This record gives sequence, C-alpha cells and structure tokens, in this order.
Amino acid sequence: MNTNEEAKPKLQLTKIWKCKNESCKAWVREEFAVADQLCPMCKGPMLRTMKHLPALQKKAKARTK
Ligand SMILES: [Zn+2]
Repeated sequence: MNTNEEAKPKLQLTKIWKCKNESCKAWVREEFAVADQLCPMCKGPMLRTMKHLPALQKKAKARTK
C-alpha cells in the first residue's frame, strides 16, 4: 500500500506521437492518433515515443458495486 501517492495523479508511461520539429511542442496520445498522424500545429511528420502522463480516466464501464 502506498498512501503517499493518493494525492497526486498517477503518471503512466504512455505511447505518444511527438512532432519531429524541435521548435514545435505538439504531441498526441497514440490512442488518439491516426495511422499517418501529422503534427496538428505545423503539419509536419511525427515520431512515436513515450511520455509520462497522468492516467486517462476511462468513462465507460462503471465497476460493479
Ligand atoms: Zn509540429
């Protein structure tokens, strides 16, 4: 049990697409990216990488009580 972690959101290593342009900070979560994802900001090519992000809240399925 890890009581210390309750307050802050859990970071999860998440697959993302990141813009190849170093001066552009844009990135997209892989689960929202399409096959030929282009940068939403500069329309340049993107690169698959990983990033620590807060875990996404899944809306669907409520847990059984
Ligand atoms: Zn870009």
